Order: sequence, then structure tokens, then C-alpha cells
Amino acid sequence: MAIKEIETEKNNSVLRQKAKKVKHINSKIKEIVLDMTETMKSNDIIAGLAAPQLGHSLQIIVIRFDYNKGYITLINPQITKNFRKKTVMEENCMSVPGISVLIERYHKIIIEALDIEGRPIRIKAKGILARIIQHEIDHLNGILITDYK
Ligand SMILES: [Zn+2]
Repeated sequence: MAIKEIETEKNNSVLRQKAKKVKHINSKIKEIVLDMTETMKSNDIIAGLAAPQLGHSLQIIVIRFDYNKGYITLINPQITKNFRKKTVMEENCMSVPGISVLIERYHKIIIEALDIEGRPIRIKAKGILARIIQHEIDHLNGILITDYK
């Protein structure tokens, strides 16, 4: 595993692509997840990271929402339910350095994904966690915070 440089909008078109679904969770995928986790550890400020930010066009996100609970890997994540309420908050992104954008997002969502062992998981998220996951899923769709300006 290795700490990787986070891609920024200027130097990488992968950030603008729709990421591919992960078909097999093999050693290559596990290594990408380890790289993502290591890269997050070295950039203490970030709460989530999407594979396209490290140059991989794959539907993988890693989330750290609770410092005590460590990292959660979500493979092929899908929002399966949005609750109606929305909130507005300022967001930053490592791939768009130096910019903050006010973004309206769902307060509460349900996400279905696979974990690193390929087991299906379902998460009900609200507040900051729901916001982080929506931000990272945007990355899998080639959407950046500047698109909300
Ligand atoms: Zn981001």
C-alpha cells in the first residue's frame, strides 16, 4: 500500500468520468482500498475519498465519519432512498483546492453497497455522514462541488 497524490480537477479527466462498477473484489481492488485509506490517514482533514480522486475510474468510496469507528469501504454504492428534508452546508474538496461551495443535500439517505469482502451492506445515514456519502457518490458520477455554483 502507498500514500497517493490526490488528483485535482486541472490534471485529471478521470474525475469527470462516470466510474465503472466493480465486478470482482480481487487483490487489485483491495490494494486500491488500502491506498485510499492510507492517503486519507496522511490527509487528516478529509472525511471521505472516492477512487477517481486517486485516478481509478471505479465505484469505490472510503468514509471516515467517526474517528473511533475507523474507515468504511463502500463498493458500488447506491442511494436507494432519499428522505425529503434538505440542508445547506459549505463543502470543500481535496480535488478542488481552495474552494468552498454552499451545497444543498438530503439530510437523510439509505445507501446500499458491498463491503470489502463483497457482502451487501445497507446504511441509514443522516447529517454530516449523509452529506459526505452524497459528496463521494457525486465523484463516482463525475460531479465536482464547483458544479453546484
Ligand atoms: Zn471531493
